[in-house]
Amino acid sequence: MSENSCGSGGCATNKEAEEKKMAELMGRIKNKIVVLSGKGGVGKSTVAANLAVGLSLEGNKTGLLDVDVHGPSIPRLLKLTGTRPGVRNDTMIPVEYSWNLGVMSVGFLLPDEHEAVVWRGPVKGSVIKQFLDGVEWGERDYLIIDCPPGTGDEPLSVLQFLGKDAKAVIVTSPQAVAMDDVRRSITFCRLMDTEIIGIVENMSGFVCPDCGAVHNIFDTGGGERLALDAGVPFLGRIPIDMEAAKAGDNGEALLAVKSDSPASQAFKHVVRAVIKSSKK
Ligand code: ADP
Repeated sequence: MSENSCGSGGCATNKEAEEKKMAELMGRIKNKIVVLSGKGGVGKSTVAANLAVGLSLEGNKTGLLDVDVHGPSIPRLLKLTGTRPGVRNDTMIPVEYSWNLGVMSVGFLLPDEHEAVVWRGPVKGSVIKQFLDGVEWGERDYLIIDCPPGTGDEPLSVLQFLGKDAKAVIVTSPQAVAMDDVRRSITFCRLMDTEIIGIVENMSGFVCPDCGAVHNIFDTGGGERLALDAGVPFLGRIPIDMEAAKAGDNGEALLAVKSDSPASQAFKHVVRAVIKSSKK
């Protein structure tokens, strides 16, 4: 193909220029971390939000990108529903959650938050591309990317755009049925050549609000066993904590409002493990 040749896939020069722009913009972010889960409802978005807030509270310039096209929950979890990102020179500006945490979500762009999105794979891919190279992320220590559950178009697009530069955190709950799905997430990362920072076992035991004792409603330790089997680091267990559920419902990150609760302590442990594995 000659340097300027055009075909059904678009002009080669345009594509190269776009790839260069993406590499340049993403190169200004030291650590790109996708948060994955095999199934929904295991607390992936809660972990992504608390990870981003925790990293920012440790003084890191952080971005949080929600690419869950069909169910963006980050705006609700961080009380940013109804917010619109600013635009400067055709580039979107992340919504400021705090001075060092900027947030972008497909939820900010929908005319109505309850609207059902019916985009097909290629459309999702181009929206995700815009979230990466059409947003003024600037220099950041971290970009945390909350992907929808499973191994579909969204995580695939993100990992294809970011290549080996992205790493993954996989969230699971302790039930056996969730374990089967997490195996698929591990295989997915391996196929994409994405380094796995580790597995987080969320909803691992229930903290009794009266006596503080931890009751294991489901079997516990499955995430750790699976991590060991797969040769992947285990980042820690986060208990079911009524404070975490309350904070989620109130649109607050637990780490920002109840930093001493059992789940907060566990989130801090995960944040420290992620920092340890990061580029400085
Ligand atoms: P997912 O992104 O996996 O679908 P969410 O993060 O939206 O899951 O969490 C689902 C629900 O569970 C939310 O209401 C959230 O507040 C709650 N939740 C998540 N983790 C915990 C926890 N450790 N303790 C109590 N509630 C939690």
